[in-house]
Amino acid sequence: MGLLKKLASLLGGTGFGGDDDNVHWVYVRCNRCGEVIATRINLANDLSVEYGEDERPRGYYVRKLLTGTGARRCYQQVEVEIEFDASKRPVSQVARGGTLITREEYEAEAGT
Ligand SMILES: [Zn+2]
Repeated sequence: MGLLKKLASLLGGTGFGGDDDNVHWVYVRCNRCGEVIATRINLANDLSVEYGEDERPRGYYVRKLLTGTGARRCYQQVEVEIEFDASKRPVSQVARGGTLITREEYEAEAGT
């Protein structure tokens, strides 16, 4: 387990100058079965633009439906809505059917 974690952090860790800047990770826990689910938002492709009255982008928006692996025989979908500012920084995140959790919480449970 320790080795796997080390390997994962080597492969997925920052520091390689990859495209991590263009990815926003979201972690949720299903309200029905408690399974933790992760998804990544590609900031270059997945966002819808919201235009202000001056017709310039004032922010971005994305909605995603997440489904667990089905390992717990739960097929509830968790809907996540995220708003970003004009610099693509997340300003609000809402989940329906699930609860937003931190990356630490996700990794603590997904690793077991
Ligand atoms: Zn579930």
